[in-house]
Amino acid sequence: MFVDTHCHLTHPPLSSDVATIIKRAEAVGVNFIICVGTDLESSQTAIVLAERFEQVYAAVGIHPNDAAGIVESWQSVLTNMLTHPKVIAVGEIGLDYYWKNTPREVQLDLFRQQIQIAQESQLPMIIHNRQADNDLQVILDESGYYHGVLHCFSSTAEFASAMLGRGLFISFTGSVTYRSKRTQAAVQTVLLNRLLLETDAPFLTPIERKPQANEPAFLPLIAEVIAEWQNLDVQTVADQTTQNAIALFRLPI
Ligand SMILES: [Zn+2]
Repeated sequence: MFVDTHCHLTHPPLSSDVATIIKRAEAVGVNFIICVGTDLESSQTAIVLAERFEQVYAAVGIHPNDAAGIVESWQSVLTNMLTHPKVIAVGEIGLDYYWKNTPREVQLDLFRQQIQIAQESQLPMIIHNRQADNDLQVILDESGYYHGVLHCFSSTAEFASAMLGRGLFISFTGSVTYRSKRTQAAVQTVLLNRLLLETDAPFLTPIERKPQANEPAFLPLIAEVIAEWQNLDVQTVADQTTQNAIALFRLPI
């Protein structure tokens, strides 16, 4: 059994037929999916999907690229969502210095505030980081709260080590199927008991399934590359990463 720990069922084309997407995932052993919000609206939709489908859990949060133009009352809206029994994390939150549409100061401020919200509710964080290693580390160290996962890890093996040392989990997407030396080195730094799998669908389709949109049913392709790079069998990777997801997100499954 697999858990897709990061998927955007709220985004097209997945959003147009979630029931079929879930069925296709189950057919290959991907039995649970964490649907991750990127703003208040998609977070609310993630909750609706979690209510509708037993296999779906929700994470709620505001992505750094969606930081501009959020309503003033966002904190109370988000905090309210966290009381829902199927909301299992705050995410995705973090820093993105690749896209320039949100000023860094705005991102840093929003990230700090969402870390605090996660900490107050004792929920894990799903953290987005693109080209912002230094500031991410500074902000996390400032908070002292390291409960969560660095999703779609794309940094160096050294940064992976530094984050693992603080207690964070690290998760990998279909980008492992592109087999860069840098990603391989990062994967080989992460012990299996701290590693999670995710598709980040509909984005980051594994190379074998291009040009289709990504979906949770493609998760086993990611496990295959991780297994090869860690010299393990796929079943071991499936079992351990599923246990990790259950433990980190306290999934009642
Ligand atoms: Zn995402």
